[in-house]
Amino acid sequence: MLTITGKTKLLGIIGDPIEHSLSPVMQNAALAEMGLDWVYLPFPVQGKNLTDAIAGFSAVGLQGFNVTIPHKQAIIFHLTEVSPLARAVGAVNTVWRSEAGWCGTNTDVAGFLAPLQSLDRDWSSVNVLCLGNGGAARAVVAGCTQLGCKTIQVVGRNPDKLQHFQDSWQGSPFAESLAVHPWEALPDLLPTAGLIVNTTPIGMHPQVDQSPLTIAEANLISSQAIAYDLIYIPNPTQFLRQAHDRGALAIDGLEMLVQQGAAALKIWTQQAQVPVDTMRHALQKHLGLI
Ligand code: NAP
Repeated sequence: MLTITGKTKLLGIIGDPIEHSLSPVMQNAALAEMGLDWVYLPFPVQGKNLTDAIAGFSAVGLQGFNVTIPHKQAIIFHLTEVSPLARAVGAVNTVWRSEAGWCGTNTDVAGFLAPLQSLDRDWSSVNVLCLGNGGAARAVVAGCTQLGCKTIQVVGRNPDKLQHFQDSWQGSPFAESLAVHPWEALPDLLPTAGLIVNTTPIGMHPQVDQSPLTIAEANLISSQAIAYDLIYIPNPTQFLRQAHDRGALAIDGLEMLVQQGAAALKIWTQQAQVPVDTMRHALQKHLGLI
């Protein structure tokens, strides 16, 4: 049982809605394992209350917080310092205090990269196919650029949003290997894709029997490919089942969730190591995966 004392330090997460967030489960498990008198709380914050919430966090001395939908972009305007990576991605998910004020960065990119960096691949020969062009796709583009992937092909269903997505990277190093395509281009792009990332919600509850790929499209997945679904429940998703049936390597979104949280906890606690296994185990147990 967690003991709150007069000295307990506060961390948290803001979002709207926030009740489904899994971060409190894994962060509090890690804080307990580290023997720290800290607690991590969910804070439901509507957009209209963002300014007040941050002023309140300053007033009560919150150590830091995570940011989730819908505040990842808007929070940038409330920060004294924003890391170059978070600026390029256009989203902040981790905020901490400095003497000057609140500072923010994006640990989703590190979280996305962690399971890929444990693989032995020549990334300079890998063509990436990113399904969807929303917020998470931005972390995928930044991550794959950092990996040095050969090309990054982003497929989306809305031509205006797709064009906006491409334009938003102009002038940054992230734009160099990036191209965008309509959804209909999938049959041309799938056979040569070495890393296929699903950043759409297709396959999540209640669409658990659906995949972003039709059966015919899934049959074009190379057996040498890596299929990465950012969705972590159900596990596996229909997309990962299709990829596994083709002989491809399947990666689910749980590790990204764990690793973005671990990267945030390192920042707040100024510790080089945090108990990642404990965080993963707490999440798996909570989700009924073990
Ligand atoms: P988002 O900003 O809403 O983006 C979703 C994207 O999927 C948009 O491009 C959207 O297209 C597209 N899309 C939605 N339904 C579609 C459909 N039926 N057909 C084709 N495209 C469709 O959401 P997000 O924040 O990027 O999150 C996306 C997914 O990643 C969610 O499942 C989320 O849980 C997951 N995620 C996981 C982690 C992790 O740590 N594992 C982290 C972040 C996100 P339109 O713009 O045209 O609507």
